[in-house]
Amino acid sequence: MSENSNKVAIITGASRGIGAAIAERLAGDGFTIVINYAGKSSEAAALAARIEQGGGRTLTAQADVGDPAAIGRMFDAAEAAFGGVDVLVNNAGIMRLAPLSEVNDAVIDSQIAVNLRGVINTLREAARRLRSGGRIINLSSSVVGLYPPTYAVYAATKAGVEAMTHVLAKELRGRNITVNAVAPGPTATALFLDGKPQEVIEHLTNLAPLERLGQPQDIAAAVSFLAGPDGAWVNGQVLRANGGII
Ligand code: NDP
Repeated sequence: MSENSNKVAIITGASRGIGAAIAERLAGDGFTIVINYAGKSSEAAALAARIEQGGGRTLTAQADVGDPAAIGRMFDAAEAAFGGVDVLVNNAGIMRLAPLSEVNDAVIDSQIAVNLRGVINTLREAARRLRSGGRIINLSSSVVGLYPPTYAVYAATKAGVEAMTHVLAKELRGRNITVNAVAPGPTATALFLDGKPQEVIEHLTNLAPLERLGQPQDIAAAVSFLAGPDGAWVNGQVLRANGGII
């Protein structure tokens, strides 16, 4: 039996993309998985079915991470179903790009609501409820560091996520809980690919000395390390998983 058996991981935004890959990876590592999603219930249900066919345990939980009451209910449901929560992966995120001179209020507010307020909501619940031995892994982005044009609001929300990672690691002194961030580079998901011309995708793909686009499974592997026994001594760190772009 794996060391992770009987441990419960909540993964936000797990219906597709990087979150779905993290869910499959952590299920393979032995964790029971709470699959959070915003709207795509059929994707979440299909992922749950795949994991359960492989012998895993899941719960699907619709909740907008920006809604504090909904996040409280999601933790309640996880505790009621499985007895507690050990791991939180803050993966849900949105990206809306525009130069600061042109960015509109809806684009600003939606990214702050999901990427920043959403992470605050889940971190607050996790700080109150995670069991000893727990792990928190926040998804940042390598644009914190690269700072390309048009990414100002998005990068600002992710810089905030990194700041909270460092602070919460210290606040949880004595609880035996680590808090880290994983900062992917360009990764083949809808968030990265949608709306980008092929030449832009090729340019960003070739930024990495490893000369390929990141795959969701590359990011899931880094999260698996931090969530599992081998990651136990890593705390308050940001791990860039980006093929070497920065
Ligand atoms: P996708 O757009 O492919 O998937 C986003 C996921 O987040 C979906 O499961 C979606 O749910 C969920 N989601 C969106 N809004 C909310 C919300 N308000 N409440 C709950 N869930 C929500 O994104 P990626 O997989 O690419 O990104 C995952 C994370 O990785 C994000 O934090 C992103 O910023 C970060 N990242 C991604 C990079 C990339 O190149 N792809 C690079 C660097 C960082 P639903 O399906 O229900 O809509």
